[in-house]
Amino acid sequence: MIELRTPAEVDAMRPAGRFVAEVLATLRDETKVGTNLLTIDRRAHDMIRRAGAESCYIDYHPSFGAMPFGKVICTSINDAVLHGLPFDYALRDGDLVSLDFAASVDGWVADSAVSFVVGTARDEDLALIDTTQRALDAAIGAAVEGSRIGDISAAIAAVAHADGYGINTDFGGHGVGRTMHGDPHVPNDGKPNRGYPLRAGLVLALEPWFLQTTDELVTDPDGWTLLSADGSRGAHAEHTVAITSDGPLILTDRSFLGVD
Ligand code: MG
Repeated sequence: MIELRTPAEVDAMRPAGRFVAEVLATLRDETKVGTNLLTIDRRAHDMIRRAGAESCYIDYHPSFGAMPFGKVICTSINDAVLHGLPFDYALRDGDLVSLDFAASVDGWVADSAVSFVVGTARDEDLALIDTTQRALDAAIGAAVEGSRIGDISAAIAAVAHADGYGINTDFGGHGVGRTMHGDPHVPNDGKPNRGYPLRAGLVLALEPWFLQTTDELVTDPDGWTLLSADGSRGAHAEHTVAITSDGPLILTDRSFLGVD
């Protein structure tokens, strides 16, 4: 069921968005060559406790997960792109890191992801991250009243295709509200002017993710982490966005913190 939020409810989602933005900005700043993925998870958990927020991930156990997630953040490294289960690994020079974080504040959820390289970056990794970010920007630009879900999907796909990346539509964006995943599904590829009409009060997590040379995923033996089938690297960018009569409102915007 697709739920529309009143302007007061969208306002009530702002603290969740701000908290998720602050956590990702902090973790991005603190994550360096040598940082252990378990340290990133512990740090995120500390921030959740201090803020009186609730993790959306720790007890998360959908049909495709082997067991409850058990951590509060997804850390997907290099050929891992989604649902990366933090493990005992110290980041190495040139690693491509995607952090995906969702939390609930005052009973409202926000969900966001960022990708970056620690240490010396390869050009092809920076290009992939840049495409993913521009696809997210295009998706947000298409998230306006009077358009449809397919317009968002087509905007994402156009950016990926122009840069030569394939698209996997098994995992994409989704409605966000009292819970992390709601209707509608927002595929990262689709046809303009198709699908559910976008109305003020619809709140969506928009999340393009691409792999360098494949669109196929395999699941890691940990039962959670999704890896590229060919070992090439992946990147992911995500914001929680409210469609309003004044245009798209990025609830998880980090720009006020001085980071992108
Ligand atoms: Mg997410």
